Amino acid sequence: MDKIAICAGSFDPPTMGHLNIIERGLKIFDKLVVAVATNTSKKPILNVKERVDLLAKLLKAYKDKIEVVSFNGLLVDFAKQRKVRTLLRGIRNMSDYEYESQMALVNKALYPSLETIFMMTEGKYSHLSSTFIREILTFGGSCKGMIHPQVEKLLKSKLK
Ligand code: ADP
Repeated sequence: MDKIAICAGSFDPPTMGHLNIIERGLKIFDKLVVAVATNTSKKPILNVKERVDLLAKLLKAYKDKIEVVSFNGLLVDFAKQRKVRTLLRGIRNMSDYEYESQMALVNKALYPSLETIFMMTEGKYSHLSSTFIREILTFGGSCKGMIHPQVEKLLKSKLK
């Protein structure tokens, strides 16, 4: 049976850190469902379709192993619906750990057979967050090395 995990997030925008976790995740799992959350409380810079299309483009080399979709509502309900029992999450630092460990416990309470697997970020990506990327680009800074050039191009055209 295939080992499948869901890699969920807002991905607004996807960063090199996200892509790194997904690519490394493929060494552990046979398939990944990259799930773009539609119900984020943050004000999005990219709409959900743009985020899904962008991730599908960035990950097209792995298209046999990765499905990029959006989901509404609770991640546990999406996981149940897809019959997936593993979540893959990236951890950058202690504040991610605190937030992510709480979320893993809440998800476990809602869906007891769900397991959350944490993967430590690569050091060179540990400072990257979508929030900072949005801020840097909004004020005209360069995000070279932080996001894929295709992401930078799309964001710059949106911010014009
Ligand atoms: P959220 O909207 O829940 O904060 P994100 O879309 O920012 O989620 O991120 C989704 C997942 O990717 C989370 O597990 C988050 O910790 C992880 N992540 C975000 N940035 C990085 C990074 N630079 N390196 C590794 N993991 C990351």
